[in-house]
Amino acid sequence: MSELLKTLEAEFSKIKDAESMSDSPLKKCLTETSEFKMNLKKLRAHLTKQIQEEADSENADKLARKRQLIIEKLHKNYRQWEHGVRKQGKVAFQQHNKFNKVILNKIYDFDLDDVYVNPLPPNAREYVEQAVGLHISRYNMSSVPVEDGSDMVDYLENVYKVDPLISKKFVDMAQIIRELRAGNLESCMAWCTEGSLLEFELHMLKAMYFLQSGDKIKAFNYVLNSIPGFLKKTKKHHLRHKVAPLLAQLVVCSQTTFDISNQREKCINLFTQDYCARNKLSFNSSLFLIVMSGIISFQFFIKYRTIRAASHVDWSTENELPFNVKLPDFLTKFHPIFICPVLKEETTTENPPYALPCHHIISKVSLDKLSKNGTCNFKCPYCPIMAARSRAEKVSFVFL
Ligand SMILES: [Zn+2]
Repeated sequence: MSELLKTLEAEFSKIKDAESMSDSPLKKCLTETSEFKMNLKKLRAHLTKQIQEEADSENADKLARKRQLIIEKLHKNYRQWEHGVRKQGKVAFQQHNKFNKVILNKIYDFDLDDVYVNPLPPNAREYVEQAVGLHISRYNMSSVPVEDGSDMVDYLENVYKVDPLISKKFVDMAQIIRELRAGNLESCMAWCTEGSLLEFELHMLKAMYFLQSGDKIKAFNYVLNSIPGFLKKTKKHHLRHKVAPLLAQLVVCSQTTFDISNQREKCINLFTQDYCARNKLSFNSSLFLIVMSGIISFQFFIKYRTIRAASHVDWSTENELPFNVKLPDFLTKFHPIFICPVLKEETTTENPPYALPCHHIISKVSLDKLSKNGTCNFKCPYCPIMAARSRAEKVSFVFL
């Protein structure tokens, strides 16, 4: 993490802490204002009473004095309130200013256009909007209480131009997640692949529900009926150790100590992974990945700007950073690259990777070259096995 991020974090939590305290300046303003409002209401009530009394009273002198008193009180209250709000406002303003000075000005001081000199393509905005739409589809659908998903599909298409075929898949996913959250496992059970880890964890969750409801016999029978068969069929015997604590619970304790919400979240997470993989949806939204990568790379952009200014080097490649950024695995693993061993170049959609009969992989250009455009057999560049272009198969990398 860069120095800037660290300071940002520290300063942000300072502000947040200050705001969460009951005597934060803005909260004080709010309390003082509502007190002032209360006082005003009281004074109004006094005055209304007075006006009525005035109508049917002769003692004008006394009433005038009373009214004078009320007006004085009003002035006093107003002055107090104004002074308090001014004071607190000043403190809040100072806090805000300090935050600006330490952090925000440094960020605003930085203009990405100074560094990235290649102009953005005209349809960049459209892509960003689509990414926002997909992000919403991926993460926020299950928290929106929609009965009829078609509204959501229409909305995402009209506002963000998300393909209805894609958003429909997310709507269905959200429906199953909502049911899981509500304790209804059936739709997820019906969806999951037989023998998958998800199926196992769902069985465990269901047994926990039985146990939570106090029906130990039902829980025991459920475990007995579902788990051994599952382990035998899938040969996933290593999962046995996960069942043991649950069985022990059945026998020993009357108090349930397992974490059912944790198990539920585990199922939801596994389901989301499986669902996205099966429907060819990306598990992480590209918006999240890009913004996260941007935050991590920011420090390098700042450094690069300084270096560029000093050494007059320029950003020559349009789709590549002129510096190396080390990103955490979860941000890079979705983008597999393959370097052709013959060409020593990365494969692309124009020059895709091909697998030879021995399963070694080279790029299409190399394949054409080595096979003299398919006219002769050749020896694999890795091993002694002979290969022919007609027996090579195109490879697409899928992240599992
Ligand atoms: Zn080979």
